[in-house]
Amino acid sequence: MIDSTHDPNLRSWVTSANDPDTGFPIQNLPLGVFADAGGSRIGTAIGDSVLDLAACAEAGLVDGPAGAACRAPDLNALMALGSPHWRALRHRLSALLRHDARERVSLARLLRPLGELEMRLPARIGDYTDFYASIQHATTVGAQMRPENPLLPNYTWVPIGYHGRASSIVVSGTPVIRPRGQFKLEAEAPLYAPTRRLDYELELGAWVGPGNPLGAPVPIAEAGARLFGLSLLNDWSARDIQRWEYQPLGPFLAKNFATSVSAWVVTLDALAPFRCPAFPRNTDQPQPLPYLNDPADQAGGGLDIILEVLLSTPHMRARGDAPHLLSRGNARDLYWTLAQMLAHHSSGGCNLRPGDLLGTGTVSGPAPDSRGCLLELTDGGKAPITLPSGETRRFLEDGDEVILRGHCAREGFRSIGLGECRGIVNPAQRME
Ligand code: CA
Repeated sequence: MIDSTHDPNLRSWVTSANDPDTGFPIQNLPLGVFADAGGSRIGTAIGDSVLDLAACAEAGLVDGPAGAACRAPDLNALMALGSPHWRALRHRLSALLRHDARERVSLARLLRPLGELEMRLPARIGDYTDFYASIQHATTVGAQMRPENPLLPNYTWVPIGYHGRASSIVVSGTPVIRPRGQFKLEAEAPLYAPTRRLDYELELGAWVGPGNPLGAPVPIAEAGARLFGLSLLNDWSARDIQRWEYQPLGPFLAKNFATSVSAWVVTLDALAPFRCPAFPRNTDQPQPLPYLNDPADQAGGGLDIILEVLLSTPHMRARGDAPHLLSRGNARDLYWTLAQMLAHHSSGGCNLRPGDLLGTGTVSGPAPDSRGCLLELTDGGKAPITLPSGETRRFLEDGDEVILRGHCAREGFRSIGLGECRGIVNPAQRME
């Protein structure tokens, strides 16, 4: 639903929010959690500042159920409230932050400099599921393992996913320790050693809102409104461990050592101007089964979000080089919509809860420079990438920093950003 909060002419009294280059103009209003003496507080990013929403609620500037939820140390209570309350909060924040807001003098005292805050995970994540929604990624990776049969026949019918690990999800900026694991080289017996094929996966993470009771599937027509917002997500992957362990039950330790998410949750209300039709299926691809097929979702359930991966090596940082762009893709290339993923997840009766996280799977497009992981970009390590520094990479090395970025742009609307999801690779820990 596009409304007055998306008006491209809106300006904020926070002047940095009016900078054409900021990803956090008044039209965005992403929510996050920052560390504060003795605890955590909810805030909204505006330009290069963060408005302390807990303080706003305490001052009576944000009231009702959403105001009460803003006093919590994480976003779970707000996520549980549902769409009418999220929209009411968005309208209130838009009114408080617009250039002519009467409250601007008192509110200015509640601003914090964004760059100085320590961010925390936006929510307590009860469960994490990772999908596999990019048909391009599934086809390219499938071809490496099964050249004669890259895309398995179930792919076009059923949203593929697996249950991931919530305990090792970390917020952007948290270092990632190179995992040790079991993998097989030429010898008959596998070895146990630090992974030699550490990779990233460029994904979106969708935060579940109200969820559903056990045994009560969410109809596809209602599924989109059960999602609160999106972050960037890096599903760090150890390809050698993955290759050895994935059959017959799928990924396990190859992916559960760390998953990074960006700190700011961009709400689906903020993303309303950037919706697009669902992935256009060709004549070889079946229409979704009825429980996954909703006319409104087919017409506008896709997302036009530009997603980028950048790499910075220790050598590049020593030289003062900017991070190097490895790939640029778009979420509109996902074969399944977020609503289809949520409806499918609940379709057998599984209950989703506020703060659950759904990863989309690696976002890859048809163009070679839109492939969202090194496994695809280097053809399984066979074709190394040469960086402007002269270094080469097949997979990630210690000290490498991976930076995911996302933004939306559309004629007639203010561009908004998803911020960044960063992680630096630390060496494997010594075994005692
Ligand atoms: Ca993944």
